[in-house]
Amino acid sequence: MIMATNQGTPHMPSSGSFFTPDRYFSRLSRIDIAKDLLGAGLRTVLLDIDNTILRRDTHEVPRDIVVWLAQAKQANITICLLSNNWHTSVLELAETLDLPIVAKALKPLPFGYLRALSLVHAKRANSVVIGDQLFTDVAGAHALGMRAFLLAPLVEQDLTHTLFLRNIERALLGDAQPEGGVVAQSVREMHERGSEE
Ligand SMILES: [Mg+2]
Repeated sequence: MIMATNQGTPHMPSSGSFFTPDRYFSRLSRIDIAKDLLGAGLRTVLLDIDNTILRRDTHEVPRDIVVWLAQAKQANITICLLSNNWHTSVLELAETLDLPIVAKALKPLPFGYLRALSLVHAKRANSVVIGDQLFTDVAGAHALGMRAFLLAPLVEQDLTHTLFLRNIERALLGDAQPEGGVVAQSVREMHERGSEE
């Protein structure tokens, strides 16, 4: 059997589950570019927009995320936005951030991911999908043998069908806490559960 020892071999989810993220962070800016990306052989990021870099309530990209994107570019990380959103506002955002974009991506279907990879001339093995949803961002990445980092959503406000899926996501994630600090949402959930964690 050939072992997956180098970057040329597609990654298989170690847990055996499409719905288990490879890493789970509280926020994009908590991902260490040198250690968590470059150190893991990841040179390309396919990046979700809504509630990953763009707040759903204020429609702004928080300052720490703007800084992180600039630092990632400086470190020669290639970033391509990958969004299911079809509004022209995401195209304008891509222009403002000076990033390539694949919109209307229909995640978790593979076409958008593959289009994004070919747009930035990247390989699956050294690319990571980063987003806030298990059923779109993470599942689609794993179906293609790519790594996926899950982020806690920037704000709780979300589309109705997304809110429904969030309940299932929470069940799948169990007690998993995001790296990089406990976020407000997790704190609230802990209170709701009456847990002393
Ligand atoms: Mg999202």
